[in-house]
Amino acid sequence: MADHPRVLEPAPGVLAFYEGRVEGQRFDPKPNWVDEGALELGIAGYAILDGDEALVYDTGVSVDYARFVRAELSRRGASRFTVVLSHWHLDHVAGTEVFADSPIISSARTAEHLRAKQAAIEAGELEGPPAISPLILPTRTFVGRESLRVGGTTIELIAANIHSDDATVLWLPARRLLLCGDTMEDTVTYVDEPDQFDAHLRDLERLAELSRTASSPPTATPTRSPPVATRRA
Ligand SMILES: [Zn+2]
Repeated sequence: MADHPRVLEPAPGVLAFYEGRVEGQRFDPKPNWVDEGALELGIAGYAILDGDEALVYDTGVSVDYARFVRAELSRRGASRFTVVLSHWHLDHVAGTEVFADSPIISSARTAEHLRAKQAAIEAGELEGPPAISPLILPTRTFVGRESLRVGGTTIELIAANIHSDDATVLWLPARRLLLCGDTMEDTVTYVDEPDQFDAHLRDLERLAELSRTASSPPTATPTRSPPVATRRA
C-alpha cells in the first residue's frame, strides 16, 4: 500500500484506521478487489484501547494494513489483543494473520462462511486477486449476544443479519457507542444480500432499539463496503 491508513479518534480510546479515496493511489495497477471493492469507496477498521488491552474490530484489506494497526496500538501501550470480525467479507478479514497469536472472535455464521470459502480465498479465486493466504479462521465463535471485557471496558457483541447474514456489531453500553461494520454506511446500509431484506429491516429496528432504551442516542460510526456488483462470489 502506498500510504498508511489515516488514524482518527472518533471517541476517547476508540481509534479508526481509514484508508481509500486517495486520488491516483492504487493497491495494484491490475484489477483487484482491494481497489475496486474497498479503497475506491473508503473503508475503516476500528480499535478500542483500554490500558494494555486492545480490541481490534476487523483486520482490514491487507496484511500490511493490519501490521500498521498492530504497531500503532502497540505504540499506544497495547500488548494484549482480541480481534472481533464484523463479517466475512474479504476487505474486513485480510489481515488476520498479523493477530494469529491472539483470540479471533466472530459470529458462528462468519466462521461457517470463512471455512466454506477458505480454499477459494487462499487461492485468490473467490473474488479474484489478491489471495489471502493463509486465511486465519476465528478461534472462538458466539451466537446471539455475548459480553466481553477489554481493560475496564464492557463491550457487547451482537449478531445481526444486516448487509450480510453473519454481521457482528459492537455495543458499548456505558459509552452509548455502536461500532457497526458494514451494517450501516453513509447514508444508508448497503444491501449486499437483497433476498434477506426483510431480515435486514428487522435487525436495523433491533439496533435502533438500543438507543431507545437509554437517555441519549448512540454514535454510529460507519464503515463502507464495496458495491454489490464487485462483491458477490
Ligand atoms: Zn461487507
